[in-house]
Amino acid sequence: MTKDHSAAAAEFNKDEARVNWHDETLWFVRSKRDKAVFQIPEWEQLREAGSQIKNHVLSNLHDYLTEFEKKATENGITVHWAADGKEHNEIIYSIIKNEGVNRMVKSKSMLTEECHLNDFLKEKGVEVIDSDLGERIVQMREEPPSHIVLPAIHLKKSDVGETFHQHLGTEKGATDPQYLTEAARQHLRDTFLTRKVALTGVNFAIAETGGFVVCTNEGNADMGAHLADVHIAAMGFEKIIPKAEHLGVFLRLLARSATGQPITTFSSHFHKPREGQKMHIVIVDNGRTTQLGRPDFRNSLKCIRCAACFNTCPVYRRSGGHSYHTAIAGPIGSILAPNLDMAQNADLPFASTLCGSCSNVCPVKIDIHEQLYKWRQVLVQDGHVSSIKSIGIKSMASVLNSPKFYRTAGKLGRFLMKTAPFMVNNNLNVWYNQREMPEVPKESFREWYLRRDVS
Ligand code: SF4
Repeated sequence: MTKDHSAAAAEFNKDEARVNWHDETLWFVRSKRDKAVFQIPEWEQLREAGSQIKNHVLSNLHDYLTEFEKKATENGITVHWAADGKEHNEIIYSIIKNEGVNRMVKSKSMLTEECHLNDFLKEKGVEVIDSDLGERIVQMREEPPSHIVLPAIHLKKSDVGETFHQHLGTEKGATDPQYLTEAARQHLRDTFLTRKVALTGVNFAIAETGGFVVCTNEGNADMGAHLADVHIAAMGFEKIIPKAEHLGVFLRLLARSATGQPITTFSSHFHKPREGQKMHIVIVDNGRTTQLGRPDFRNSLKCIRCAACFNTCPVYRRSGGHSYHTAIAGPIGSILAPNLDMAQNADLPFASTLCGSCSNVCPVKIDIHEQLYKWRQVLVQDGHVSSIKSIGIKSMASVLNSPKFYRTAGKLGRFLMKTAPFMVNNNLNVWYNQREMPEVPKESFREWYLRRDVS
């Protein structure tokens, strides 16, 4: 059974030095984002524009998706529709099979992680090589990515050196990033040159033109797609934008929010297959329609996957991406995952301090922390939290509902903490496990207030 977030985070927290380093590295990325953002005086207007365009798209999805399908088909792209992850995987497998090959190169696509495409294709005997450097590293280690933009951010140079030593035959103990990157480059170059089918994700699909844009910093999506005879693009249906002119808003928001760059190094536009090439696009629902139908959570579909909410989140930074046990970790993943499976992901909305930093940095103004709070209410009401937690919440509600009961409980609590502290400060109290308990006050605030000298 998958460990819940707090148990997995406790595991990650055992290596304190790593936790501190992970925390500081992500905070550094967040600080770079701040610097890039402060250079644009119209940043808030840009966020507002991005948010409004996405709101408009979510209210007119049907029109924009059918317009996109029509234009893309006219451009010579084959458009497929997948209701869920299984259909997505089967469509991609059938394309690969039709080409008579059993190997594919793939650039970063969180949608394929969400649909577990690699595992599915492996079972069918298809070898998939991830071409994004971070993705390739975690793929060699048979781990999932821990971050949507920086998939191997949980690893140190020495970890990468060891992995490359095992899989690529680099020198043992090598940690020089240039040496290691060069080894990965040579390995991937051979892959690019020999794969007939390449898969990419989609950052933005443009309804007006039937084309799509893929953003990478390594140029690996381009290398794969340009050298292959068949280009498959996998896209969640929320990636649609109405017009090409809207790209200016989103490309500026995305790169600055993700890594603090003014623009992603490669923002590649694909509009039609080149001569002799085949191009497919698979448009996927996989629970998105359900989320769209939940008024409190629908605007989570505005997400452009920049990961700014990850980098700023004090819980993510100190618990690591794998503790979220879902393809998309962090604050936004904790909103998306319960939509897919409430029982399996009921722990995630609780993996937050609700400090609101995620909502403050989100480039498309998703009210992330408010949605996390709302999910908690839904999950408690639907019986998806442990009985201890739900009994605790119900008891607390009765105490807080009655002033008399509240005062008595306060007195009793102070008495117990003074005379029998072990009744409160024990291992069953998870709050106490992580903290030093404060000294017990002699009286409550109310008692002090009533007896204070006001003369
Ligand atoms: S929710 Fe907002 S901040 Fe988080 S990844 Fe999506 S767009 Fe970025």
